[in-house]
Amino acid sequence: MAGLNIVFIASEAAPLAKTGGLADVVGSLPLALKKLEHQVTVILPFYRKHLASAGIKTRPLKEEIETWADGIQHLCPLHSAKVDGLDFILVEQDHLYARDELYGPPGGAYEDNLLRYLLFDRVALESAARLSNRVDIIHCHDWQTGMVPLLLKTQYQNLAKIADTKTVYTIHNLAYQGSFPAEWIHRLGIPSHHFHPGGFEFHGQINCMKAAIESSDSITTVSPSYAGEILTREYGCQLEGFLHDHASKLSGIVNGLNIDEWNPLSDQAIAANFGPGEIAGKNKCKKALQIHCGFKVSAETPLLTLISRLAEQKGIDLIIANIGPWMKRGYQLAILGSGDRKNERLLQKLSRKYPQQFYFFRGFNESLARQIYAGGDMFLMPSRFEPCGLGQMIAMRYGSVPVVRATGGLRDTVTDYNAIKSKATGIHFSMATSRAFDIAIKQAVSLYRTPRIWSRIRSNALKRDSSWNSSAQAYERLYESLIAWTPAVANDLVKVTSSPM
Ligand code: ADP
Repeated sequence: MAGLNIVFIASEAAPLAKTGGLADVVGSLPLALKKLEHQVTVILPFYRKHLASAGIKTRPLKEEIETWADGIQHLCPLHSAKVDGLDFILVEQDHLYARDELYGPPGGAYEDNLLRYLLFDRVALESAARLSNRVDIIHCHDWQTGMVPLLLKTQYQNLAKIADTKTVYTIHNLAYQGSFPAEWIHRLGIPSHHFHPGGFEFHGQINCMKAAIESSDSITTVSPSYAGEILTREYGCQLEGFLHDHASKLSGIVNGLNIDEWNPLSDQAIAANFGPGEIAGKNKCKKALQIHCGFKVSAETPLLTLISRLAEQKGIDLIIANIGPWMKRGYQLAILGSGDRKNERLLQKLSRKYPQQFYFFRGFNESLARQIYAGGDMFLMPSRFEPCGLGQMIAMRYGSVPVVRATGGLRDTVTDYNAIKSKATGIHFSMATSRAFDIAIKQAVSLYRTPRIWSRIRSNALKRDSSWNSSAQAYERLYESLIAWTPAVANDLVKVTSSPM
């Protein structure tokens, strides 16, 4: 099939504005699709402050889009940006998007988030309809753009260039569904005839995730395991029944990384470069990290690391419960993250108690993150659930061996030492308990102290192919199947997307 015209509509994309893995995906999957000869445009809000601090050059477009929301006419200027060869359209509305944070103050959310993203969704659809070519696919992501498929099917069918467009909706995290009081339906002109249990109503509220599950032509999640998990009560966040109703259009495609962006051979933020077979630089990075953290410089001491949102999902409590015993055993631990206030306070307190072994940096810091990925021996992800997880993939690329709970994308991307010793890239544990986690850490430390085994695990991790290549092809097949569905394409798609890596 000739190159497709694909539009991504999303609320964040690296390097323009990032709070987590969603930004990594939206910033890198389009580049991989471009390599497959497709045209891709990414539409994002014009986050003035974030764009300025990321040093992104933008150009005002002649077009302005007029739309109504909450009884007010909004005139939205559009801007363009080209970043790493990728075309962005940015929707300006300063009182909504030129804020200090993307979604709200730490631990909270802006009260007008539905207004902010519904307005963005509308303008994004109108912008897509003004591109020079007919749009084949609109790919939207998470609750912020969950209303896009519904709006397209109900209110934007008169726009010729998007009238036949197929929609793909990717669930990056089912736990954030975008729930808002029903009064917004009329204030924002959301199609009210879909406000019922089979549509976007959920316990009397608007649910943006449901709107997308109902209306999109295809639903994907970011790993095959998570696609199966969300159909269960344990992981379904109460939408498992609704997802079952739409399971025929659900599949899982594991995320990739922008391997040029995350490359220890060329990364400028780390103390020394390294890669598979050139490990001397990794030792220098460990030393630099130990100095940065105020730890004793010691090649023998295991240096454990974590970079994460400090949310309940991430199993931070399992780490906190183990810090005392780990300190007694002489491990070093470096954590970078922010989020839940209680976790932040507990970690700060513990870092004051063990200043020579435990370093905690509260905040979001890309350069420090790179130094930690490069300097650590082990990377911890004891997540309660993990749709895909990028941290463990970046860690492997930087030779930091992941110790992960066997859930979602962690299960699909980290090969467990206890399952296949010769191909292992990390260690799994199953139960979400501090004891089970500690047993896995003890095993990791014991392997670390057996250099012959450790260097093989680390080398496997360093060599793992975390690029987008095969997953971008899976998305390509999905897009093509939506445009020209044939049973052969369907069979092929199921095979590719449902086999764990
Ligand atoms: P999630 O999207 O659930 O937060 P992922 O593992 O998928 O988790 O992606 C997290 C991304 O955000 C990774 O690129 C990670 O390096 C980055 N990240 C998380 N916390 C921080 C932080 N405090 N500082 C810098 N980067 C961070």
